[in-house]
Amino acid sequence: MRPSPGPHRVLVLGGSSEASQLAQQLSQLGFDLEVIVSFAGRTTSRNRLPDSIKERVGGFGGVEGLGRYLEEECIDAVIDATHPFADQMPFHVRAASDAAGVAALRLLRPPWEEMPGDEWLPVEDMAGAAQAVEASGARRVLLTIGRHELPAFAACSPAIRFVARAIDPPVSVGFANIDVVLARGPFALPEELELIRSANIELVVSKNSGGQATSAKLDAARQLSLPVVMVTRPPCPPGDTVATPEAALKWLAAQLEETRP
Ligand code: NAP
Repeated sequence: MRPSPGPHRVLVLGGSSEASQLAQQLSQLGFDLEVIVSFAGRTTSRNRLPDSIKERVGGFGGVEGLGRYLEEECIDAVIDATHPFADQMPFHVRAASDAAGVAALRLLRPPWEEMPGDEWLPVEDMAGAAQAVEASGARRVLLTIGRHELPAFAACSPAIRFVARAIDPPVSVGFANIDVVLARGPFALPEELELIRSANIELVVSKNSGGQATSAKLDAARQLSLPVVMVTRPPCPPGDTVATPEAALKWLAAQLEETRP
């Protein structure tokens, strides 16, 4: 980390619940910090951050744009707390921070693991998920993949009825055999059982996002002996990675300690 005369400037790339938790905790670190949390701007509703934190919204313009931002804003450390399915930003952060000589960390929660009683059908992407849905023979399918990738299921038989849960309404799905349920986690087991039972769901589609906020759907599927089409995570770049906001705070404290007079 570069020695910094004034407050240390930390950029947090948001997009996960851990990013908000980390932002809440950074003020307790005991260092003079200016924290900027950056959002891609894909969701319309976000958790409120402390007033001391500056927010920015929108892309940087690739690796070059992010590199310029790190330089111009005199950023001392970057914590990439984007979602486990963000497949570009982690690579941009690694490349831009290496080039600028800025310390960088990925905060990435562990994936869910299959448990006894689970019937997971692992697939690599949404096209694979759509194929697995079609091949399963299920006629009532719950999609818990957010709203952006719903069009992948337009390729499925119109005889399949989909229920899609998302935080914000989808803009354009491309097929009519779908009901959208708007809801933001965390979700508890009783409500997941109710959703699955009331819609007569036979198959659940999920990304392997990990974490506790949305894991109850997997407990519900296990309890009801339903298969789950599970989309595995995209690859992530090498480099310092931790699983919790607490571990990210420790990493940051160690980086800042190095520059203490
Ligand atoms: P992505 O493929 O990694 O990012 C695409 C582009 O969006 C990036 O190249 C960057 O644009 C911009 N971007 C992403 N995160 C940003 C951030 N925190 N601040 C500023 N710009 C950002 O990610 P994605 O799948 O499109 O997801 C977009 C955002 O939604 C991410 O922040 C992610 O954490 C969040 N999210 C994604 C999922 C998912 O399943 N993919 C789920 C929940 C939340 P430039 O190249 O112009 O800088």
